[in-house]
Amino acid sequence: MNSNPKLKGQSALVTGASSGIGKAVAIALANEGVNVVVNCSSHPERGQEVVDEIKSSGGTAIVYQADVSKEDEVQAMFAAMYKAFGTIDILVNNAGLQKDSAFVDMTLADWQKVIDVNLTGQFLCAREAAREFLRRGIVAERSVALGKIICMSSVHDMIPWSGHVNYASSKGGVMLFMKSIAQELAPHKIRVNSISPGAIKTRINASEMETQEEIDKILTLIPYNRIGEPEDIGKLAVWLASDDSDYITGATIYIDGGMTLFPGFAGNG
Ligand code: NAD
Repeated sequence: MNSNPKLKGQSALVTGASSGIGKAVAIALANEGVNVVVNCSSHPERGQEVVDEIKSSGGTAIVYQADVSKEDEVQAMFAAMYKAFGTIDILVNNAGLQKDSAFVDMTLADWQKVIDVNLTGQFLCAREAAREFLRRGIVAERSVALGKIICMSSVHDMIPWSGHVNYASSKGGVMLFMKSIAQELAPHKIRVNSISPGAIKTRINASEMETQEEIDKILTLIPYNRIGEPEDIGKLAVWLASDDSDYITGATIYIDGGMTLFPGFAGNG
C-alpha cells in the first residue's frame, strides 16, 4: 500500500471496473492510496467483489452502477462520487465493448451501441470530470495538475480491423477526442492521455483465445511473445495518473509487446 505517496488521498473514477483491465486499474490505484469509484453497467455484485478486494487490502472504494452512454446516469454517478469522496482527481475512461460482424452484415444497432459506449461514454465522463477540475482548482498538496484523464483506447486506434469496423472506428475516434481535449485543457493544467493496449487476457477477447492454436496465432502478431495481463495496464495507469508523468499530455502510449511494430514486415516482409 501507498508505495507512491504522490497519489495518496486522490480520488479516481474507473469506468467498466468490475472486470478485466478496469478491475486491474482500480486495484492498482487503490493500492497507491487512491479512493476509487468502481463503475459497472450491470451485475453490481461483481463490482462489489472488486470493492471488497480493495477493502481487504486496506483501500477505500465504492461501487456505482451506471451506463456510461447515458447522460443522466453519468451525471448521477459523478454526484454520488462527490458525496462519497468530495471531488475527482483522476478519471479512467475504460468501459468498452465489441459487437463484431462482417461489415456488410453490421446492423445500425450494433454500430450505434459500440460508438455510444466506447466514444460517447468517454465524452460524457470526461466532460463531467473537466467541469469539476475547473470548478475546484488546483490542490497543490495532492497534485501539480488540476486533474488527469486517461482514455482506454486500443492498438486499433491505428491498426485497421476488418470484422470489427464499429470498434476500430470508436477507438480511432477516441484518439482524436483525447488529443483535441488535451489541446483544449492543457492551459488549465489538465492532462489527458490514452493507453492503447494490444492483446490483453480479459473476457472481451476470451472467445478468441480458447485454444492453444488461437493463442499461437495471436502470438505471431506480438514480437515480445506473450499475451498481456490486465496488471500490465494497471501499472501504466498509476504512472500516468501520478505527477511522475507530469510533462505528458495528448500522448497515446501503446502497451502491446510490439504489436504496432508491424511484425509481418520483420526480415523482408
Ligand atoms: P471487459 O469486457 O472485461 O471490460 C469492459 C468493461 O466495460 C466491462 O466491465 C463491462 O461491463 C463494461 N461496460 C460495458 N458497457 C458499459 C457501459 N455502457 N457502461 C459502463 N460500463 C460498461 O474487457 P477489457 O478487455 O477489460 O476492456 C476494457 C477496455 O480495454 C475496453 O475499452 C477495451 O476496448 C479496451 N481494450 C482491451 C483490449 C484487450 O485485449 N483486452 C485491447 C485493447 C483495448
